[in-house]
Amino acid sequence: MHDLECFYCTKNQDLQNLMIEIAKLKVSTLYLNKDQTHKGRCIIALDKHVTELFYLNKIELLYFMDDVSRAAEIIQTTFKPNKINYAIYGDLVSHLHFHLVPKYEGSLEWGEAFNHSPSDKQILGDAEYRAMVSDLQTNLLQTKTVV
Ligand SMILES: [Zn+2]
Repeated sequence: MHDLECFYCTKNQDLQNLMIEIAKLKVSTLYLNKDQTHKGRCIIALDKHVTELFYLNKIELLYFMDDVSRAAEIIQTTFKPNKINYAIYGDLVSHLHFHLVPKYEGSLEWGEAFNHSPSDKQILGDAEYRAMVSDLQTNLLQTKTVV
């Protein structure tokens, strides 16, 4: 359940260039996406190399969706978006992961699909990332798991 070619499995420099770990959840890991074109954009990746939801047993599926729900809840609490978009693509990186993208009414791409990889990425300073991660970690402690 580990793929040496996959950056979610190896957690190599490619992963660290793209995201910052926020927390380990029950069956997944939550990351802050370094591109903050949509403020609060996160990624949640399953902790084992599985490529499709239907390969999970029902308990794993429940736990994963509960992790996704908790992650979305803390994004909502922390950044107060009008809606959160959930996206699983994986054509190029097949390891199961959701993009969790907060959307703000009247702002960029409201009412449309978000641009997965914008050419003008919003890259922040380390202190800003640290503050966002800290706020998300604090709010995570307020949420509950299913079991
Ligand atoms: Zn993987």
